[in-house]
Amino acid sequence: MNIQPKSVKKNSYGPTDREAEFLNSIENAKYDRQIIAGIKKFTQGKVPEDMKNFYSQAELQALEDLKGTGLDVEARMPVKITRHYFNQAKNSLPMQVLVKASPKETYDLDGSADPGKQMDYSPVEGLIHKYELGLIYVVGTCSAHCRFCYREELIAKKEVERPDGTIAPKGMAQIPEIVAYIKDHNNLVAQNDGRHPVTGRERLREILMSGGDPLVLANKNIAAWLAALSEAGIDSIRIGTKELAFYPDRFDATFFDMLDKFHAVYPETKLRIMIHFNHPDEFLKKDKDGHYIDMPGGGLEWLDSTKKAVLELGKRDWITVDNQAPILKDINDDPDALRIMQRELKRNKVENHYFFCGRDIIGHKAFNVPIEEAWRILNESQKGLSGVETHARLSITHYKGKTEVAAVSNKPAPGIKGGENGVVVLKLLRGAADAPDRGKITILGRNPDAIWFSGYNDRVIYDEAGLFDDF
Ligand code: SF4
Repeated sequence: MNIQPKSVKKNSYGPTDREAEFLNSIENAKYDRQIIAGIKKFTQGKVPEDMKNFYSQAELQALEDLKGTGLDVEARMPVKITRHYFNQAKNSLPMQVLVKASPKETYDLDGSADPGKQMDYSPVEGLIHKYELGLIYVVGTCSAHCRFCYREELIAKKEVERPDGTIAPKGMAQIPEIVAYIKDHNNLVAQNDGRHPVTGRERLREILMSGGDPLVLANKNIAAWLAALSEAGIDSIRIGTKELAFYPDRFDATFFDMLDKFHAVYPETKLRIMIHFNHPDEFLKKDKDGHYIDMPGGGLEWLDSTKKAVLELGKRDWITVDNQAPILKDINDDPDALRIMQRELKRNKVENHYFFCGRDIIGHKAFNVPIEEAWRILNESQKGLSGVETHARLSITHYKGKTEVAAVSNKPAPGIKGGENGVVVLKLLRGAADAPDRGKITILGRNPDAIWFSGYNDRVIYDEAGLFDDF
């Protein structure tokens, strides 16, 4: 279908002439992800021969026994895996934990539906506007599903409560509404000395396309978002994706052709690809004994398709690639694995951005690593890395903003009341409403069992950042 410029279409989003010309030049491709969706396929043996033992009969029975109960694992999060991920996961226990449904997921359903209070920051359906960065949900699925996903309410299409009390599934962002919101917001900011008169927020200059995984969309759909966001005045667009792990062949010639054409038309807009590797098993080859393979010139041998995609991304100086991942029980709570991952990513022009602590979210207890343990694991993993390989920080997302776990002391802090067992230092990286709060700190007495801020509410020593105002 040929896309018409603005003058032709009325009462809907109208692309500019250059936008229409760009979109009409984009080619879609067909992909063969060979997805297995639904545990039923495994239960009924309707999977390829070599996948039949991915779940044992006992595992399938245990999941079957929970069907229709309040502990139904698949009602929480649908099962989905690609052939590519299966091929790697069959020789990797951490990858199996990541992608295989388990009754452990629903043993403990304690937790909050929305600990980051995201719905308080959603002025338009499908948009979370918390910082100078906005996040948009452009699709509600991924090529495969991580069992620990924080977006399970979106992927499983659950109903969520909004601040006005209404309850409905989260909707997807739509180009006309998002573009109108960005323009209105930025106009008001421009007229008010750089701050929104009501929220105090700065200009929206960066948008993260998220979901689900934007790379399950066709090239033309991705292109439509890129162009519309650029036309709305966005400087940098992030695409959050785990497709390099689930289906690296998605980074094919038509995708790069689309990106190159986008760059030719909108050279002022930068792209930031936010990738998501949890474990080096997701991208490294292994020998017959299960060891990673040394390359003659240094480094380790990658899967061919993943390496090709990363190299292609690295050729484009207007694209940056950053990895971010949560630290999760039985998946990557392993300093050696994280050390290898950080080293290999940096060698291949992928920045190590954030590692995250898990959230106190419903259905997440099976994966939570206590905050202080996550800090120990990351810190341990960075021993033996060079300075440029250790850029990643450990973060917890407080509803007030992104917070770094900056330090955990191993010894008592002398003279500090409450610090007899050591202290934890948190630093506010970005405030949701007020950027000048950046850099403020909070000092807490240690609690090795804490998985969330609430685990410290009786041990706050100093709270310059105000993280415990509401706990
Ligand atoms: S890739 Fe991200 S959004 Fe998709 S299932 Fe995994 S954690 Fe969730």
